[in-house]
Amino acid sequence: MNEKPVLIYPEGYHASTCGYCSPPGQRSSEKSSFTVGISPVQLTCSYYQKMIDRGWRRSGEYCYKPDLHRSCCPQYTIRLNVNEFTPTRSQRKVVHRWNRFVVSDSENGDAMETDNKPSTLKRKNPPKSEPFSLLPSIHASEASFVKDQTPSHEFEVTLEPASYTDEKFELYVKYQADVHNDHRESESGFTRFLVDSPLEPSPIPYTTDPPEYLPRNYGSYHQMYRLDGKLIAMAIIDILPSCVSSVYFMYDTTWERFSLGKLSAMREASLAKEIQSFGVSEMKYLYMGFYIPSCKKMRYKGDYSPSFLLDPEEYSWHALTPAIPMLDEHRYVSFAHPDHSLKGNEVPATSEEPRISDEEASSIWTLHNGTDLQLLKSSLYWKHPVLSDALVRAIDGLGIELSRQTVFLF
Ligand SMILES: [Zn+2]
Repeated sequence: MNEKPVLIYPEGYHASTCGYCSPPGQRSSEKSSFTVGISPVQLTCSYYQKMIDRGWRRSGEYCYKPDLHRSCCPQYTIRLNVNEFTPTRSQRKVVHRWNRFVVSDSENGDAMETDNKPSTLKRKNPPKSEPFSLLPSIHASEASFVKDQTPSHEFEVTLEPASYTDEKFELYVKYQADVHNDHRESESGFTRFLVDSPLEPSPIPYTTDPPEYLPRNYGSYHQMYRLDGKLIAMAIIDILPSCVSSVYFMYDTTWERFSLGKLSAMREASLAKEIQSFGVSEMKYLYMGFYIPSCKKMRYKGDYSPSFLLDPEEYSWHALTPAIPMLDEHRYVSFAHPDHSLKGNEVPATSEEPRISDEEASSIWTLHNGTDLQLLKSSLYWKHPVLSDALVRAIDGLGIELSRQTVFLF
C-alpha cells in the first residue's frame, strides 16, 4: 500500500422497510429494502469517488450500498455530464426568474425568453437570440458579480467546509417541519446526518490559479445561499476528483415559488464546470445521488440531461433516456446484461451469497483491537460466521481492488 490505507468497520447486511413505494403511515412493515453498510474511519476523496462509482453513498459518516437485486425500489446511481448539460427551457426560466427578482425585485414574467412586452415594441426589438450560457446566468445576480447596477436584494452564495452553526440548524428544523412535517429534529441528529463526514480533505490539482470563491480542497462542504444577509438555503455537497456529489439540499419555504432545488442543481453543475475550467480535466460530472424509477417524486433527477445510470452488475454508465422503457417494465434492470433484468417479485436464478476466495483473503488486511494486524486468511474472523459475513459483504461491495487498499477493523 503506497497511500495511507483506508480504515473501515464492516457493518453488515441490513433489511429495512422501504421509504419509497408507500407514503408514511401506510407503510407496510415488510422489510423489503436491503443494504450493505460500512463505517470508514479515514477515507480519502479518491477512494470515495471509486466507492460511489460502485453504487455507494454516504449519510454522515456511515456509507451504504443498496442491494438492487432484492430491494423493492432499486436505487441507481445517477450522474449528469456537466460539459454536455443544456438546461431545458423551464430550467432556464428558473434561473432568469430568480435573477430578475434579486436584481429588480420583479416577480412577473418569465424573463427574456418569453418576454411580455407589447407586441409593437416586440417587433422593433426582437428578443435577443443569444444562446443561454449557464455560468454567467448562474452568477448574474450575486452581489460580487453584479457590476453595472445596484441590485434590489443582496444575494450571496459561499462555500465553506461542513461545520455546525445554529443558523444552519434553525434552517434545517424549519425545512423538516415545513416540508417533511417532522418536528423531532435535534442538534446531534443534524450533525450526524449533514455535518459529519468521513472524507479527508486533499488539495485540488488546479493548473491555473482559480478565483477565490472556488474551493482549494476536495472534501465535504456546505454551500450557503444568503439573501439580504439571511440564510435561505443550504446545499451539502462533496467535492471529489471527478464530480460534485450532491448530498442534500434544504431551503426556507418562504422562497418555495422560486424552485431553489432546481437552481441548486444547476449551480452545482456550474461548480463542477468551473473547477474543471482551471485545469482539473477529470472534474466532469454532477452526481445527484440515487435515481429511483419506482418513486415518482425522485424522478426529477432525470430532468437534467444528459444523465447516465450506473449498471448494478458491471458498474458501467448508461444513458438514462433510452433506458426508461426498460425501467418501466422491470423492477430490476441491468443495462449491461438486459437478460438479468427482473420483473415483479422475481429473484435471480443463481445463489447470490457473495464469496471471497482463499487467494483473495490472503491479500486483504484486518486489524483487531488497534494492534493486531493480520491477513484476513490467517485471522480469527475468516472462520467466524457472523463477522466474516459482514466482512465478505463489505469486500464484495467495495470490490477486490479497493479492498486491497483497505484495513478492515474489528
Ligand atoms: Zn419500495
